[in-house]
Amino acid sequence: MRRKRRRKKIILNENNNSNSTAETSGFAQLGISGALLAAATRVGFEHPKPIQTLAIPPYLEGRDVLGLAQTGSGKTAAFALPILSRIVALGTKRLPRTARALILAPTRELAVQIEEVFRDLAKGLHLSTALVLGGVSRGGQVKRLHAGVDVLVATPGRLVDLVREKDVSLAETRFLVLDEADRMLDMGFLPDVKRLVKATHRDRQTSLFSATMPTEIAALADTLLKDPIRVEAAPQGTTASEIVQSVVMARTRQKRGILAGMLADKAMGPVLIFARTKHGADIVTRNLERDGFAAAVIHGNKSQNARQRALNGFRDGSVRILVATDIAARGIDVPGISHVINYDLPDEAESYVHRIGRTGRNGADGIAITLCDPGEVSKLRQVERIARMRLPVTASHLDQPDPAAQPRERPVKAEGAGEREHRRPNGSRPANKAGRNGASGKPAGQRQEQGAGENRHALPRQLMDKPGEKKPFRNRKRRGNFRRQASQAA
Ligand code: AMP
Repeated sequence: MRRKRRRKKIILNENNNSNSTAETSGFAQLGISGALLAAATRVGFEHPKPIQTLAIPPYLEGRDVLGLAQTGSGKTAAFALPILSRIVALGTKRLPRTARALILAPTRELAVQIEEVFRDLAKGLHLSTALVLGGVSRGGQVKRLHAGVDVLVATPGRLVDLVREKDVSLAETRFLVLDEADRMLDMGFLPDVKRLVKATHRDRQTSLFSATMPTEIAALADTLLKDPIRVEAAPQGTTASEIVQSVVMARTRQKRGILAGMLADKAMGPVLIFARTKHGADIVTRNLERDGFAAAVIHGNKSQNARQRALNGFRDGSVRILVATDIAARGIDVPGISHVINYDLPDEAESYVHRIGRTGRNGADGIAITLCDPGEVSKLRQVERIARMRLPVTASHLDQPDPAAQPRERPVKAEGAGEREHRRPNGSRPANKAGRNGASGKPAGQRQEQGAGENRHALPRQLMDKPGEKKPFRNRKRRGNFRRQASQAA
């Protein structure tokens, strides 16, 4: 018979609880053991964050936890500290080729980061950690698992392979965490996650953490949890108040020049730029380089080494500008990112919250600017619903002349017209005679649309450009090609 759920929900909002117990109690009052208490102090965690205050005590009691907290608000330690405490308290030995705790994360970069937090906290406790992720050789991972580990942090795909090939067994895994749980339970990851969950110990303690939790995913999450306690450090989907958010209305073909103008401001610190697709991220990076800005790029088509190199360069300050797809939207903790710029609106509104959470971390200030083409306004409205706020439009470039909307005239061949290429002040090339861009053969002004992939057919009437402009596709076949390319999201 199905056990009756004793559901508890606790909400603590950081913004209106500045004098909360979180600030005054300390980790000891939350039940963290001596060795772990010392570890928390050693890594600089003096006072628990609200999500830690809420999640740690029930976790230590053995309860399943569904934790919702803003990105950058200390979620990792909210599960790392009690898991390590519980493993220490067990006092048992790990068995070969097993893992006592398993943390699943949706991206390799996030997995790397989580494992670092565990490793840091576990120093001197004689606990072992391991990392399993795709894109790198599996030999070292298998070797590390041979003696068994206390904490295994993994992305699902590679771990499924290792479990199938019996390089590791999850039969002894009694602590399971799905970080960025809504992402882990969406269609892309679900089959692998289900397989892995099934392979863990029956009496496991499960916790799910995320900044966003759409209703349909929450229902699915419920099926994984037993008698869960739901804790919210702030209403889900909300963004840290330290992040100043704004929207700049601009046609896609204007975005390159606007971005270059923004980045020319030397006062801008490390900047993370999000593009919607891998191809779009490459185009933005290439254009930045053409416009004189050194930038690194990170997306799913890059090798894992290239991805980690780009991220490390960004982290150590040798790279000021990082262009990324939503692969870098979740969980990545790079202190000091001053600006997040959304070159495109994300396909999934939730991603906006995760993207801008890369700035304003751990109480710091941050600025998030979204460049919004009229065709992206419906996505902007969805974002506003998720973020539960109206995003202020601080500038609009829509009233500036749109070169692509001008009637096509046969240019009079002027002096110097035979030169191979002119550059506009923003560095882009003007349309040639046929109204096509010389490099891509696309109708003038559409070179960037391919990367940005906005749906011009969804233009709201009041924001529509001049009639006749709304014809980016000549025929169905072209539109089909375009949609296929645009759907290659991160
Ligand atoms: P997370 O949300 O887990 O990525 O954490 C965001 C940042 O907050 C990281 O840089 C952590 O090191 C930091 N952090 C987490 N918990 C605490 C704490 N109790 N005191 C100070 N910093 C913390």
